[in-house]
Amino acid sequence: MKTPSLLIIYTGGTIGMVIDPSSGALQPYTFDDIYKLMPVLHNFDYTLQFVSFDPLIDSSNVTPSFWVKLATVIEENYDKYDGFVVLHGTDTMSYSASMLSFMLENLDKPVIFTGSQLPMGVVRTDGRDNFINAIEIAAAQKDGLPVVPEVAIYFENKLMRGNRTSKFNAENFNAFLSGNYPPLAEVGVHIRYNTEMILKPGNYNLKINKELDNSVIILKLFPGIAEVVVKNALNITGLKGVILETYGAGNAPTDSWFIDALTQAIDKGIIIYNVTQCKGGAVDMGKYETSMLLSLIGVVGGSDITTESAIAKMMYLLGQGYTGSELKKFLQLSLRGELTV
Ligand code: ASP
Repeated sequence: MKTPSLLIIYTGGTIGMVIDPSSGALQPYTFDDIYKLMPVLHNFDYTLQFVSFDPLIDSSNVTPSFWVKLATVIEENYDKYDGFVVLHGTDTMSYSASMLSFMLENLDKPVIFTGSQLPMGVVRTDGRDNFINAIEIAAAQKDGLPVVPEVAIYFENKLMRGNRTSKFNAENFNAFLSGNYPPLAEVGVHIRYNTEMILKPGNYNLKINKELDNSVIILKLFPGIAEVVVKNALNITGLKGVILETYGAGNAPTDSWFIDALTQAIDKGIIIYNVTQCKGGAVDMGKYETSMLLSLIGVVGGSDITTESAIAKMMYLLGQGYTGSELKKFLQLSLRGELTV
């Protein structure tokens, strides 16, 4: 039987850093020498190939063109490999994993993101375990088919659906949360896959959607948010989509200035997507009086989608040219397992 072959795509972030012996500063490591840093990689019975982004980036610098570049690397190598491991900074990993899940339509191979809180070149690094387990998972096959044919994040003993995650801790090794979806796999002595919860491979050929439209904003509510702030935000020229981060089960102030501002934006064709600020649970418009009005004026409910996934989904759908009722329909459907319907 042919051994699995994987492409490791190194984009930057803490995981690839080592300490420069002369200056003591952290600097990106060139993966040409990865076997020196991690000789254990020789023990894998898989074919591993490496490709590095140039320049390597801190993930705070991720842009839509970065996502297009990443999707293109996967596209160009899709037939040559059985799976992909993406080494990425943790700061925006949930955004990137969400976006790639939408860009890679009909995916039937694993795309496993991972990174670390401590650089690979540090003795106590979490990067080594994360990297090794991400490789194992990307290579895992059953009856000749990949076990995880979806975009996922592996971090600190857990494999999570990428578009269900948020980075929630800047200190702990356990840095990612999937508040509304169970882990796809848990790693201890064994790697235990939660097979029922893993997406089935696409039935059609992979389609890479590279058109993204970032005419979007995230508007997070807080008690005391000023009228001028809301009005100006909703009046941004060219604005097409708003992720409205509301309280609890999708609740918002009932002040008439607030509802009027949203109504005017909706009348101009701007789509407002209601996402909860909570890390678990869902928007349920109409449950409280404070969300009933939103529903009546045409705000779209985002169920239990994360903010990261909502913004990625909005950019992706707008990029596909969807507007009006069609856009609203797709926002409420689960396209890649990103929300519960
Ligand atoms: N700032 C880094 C990044 O996201 C942090 C990390 O990699 O964990 O690229």
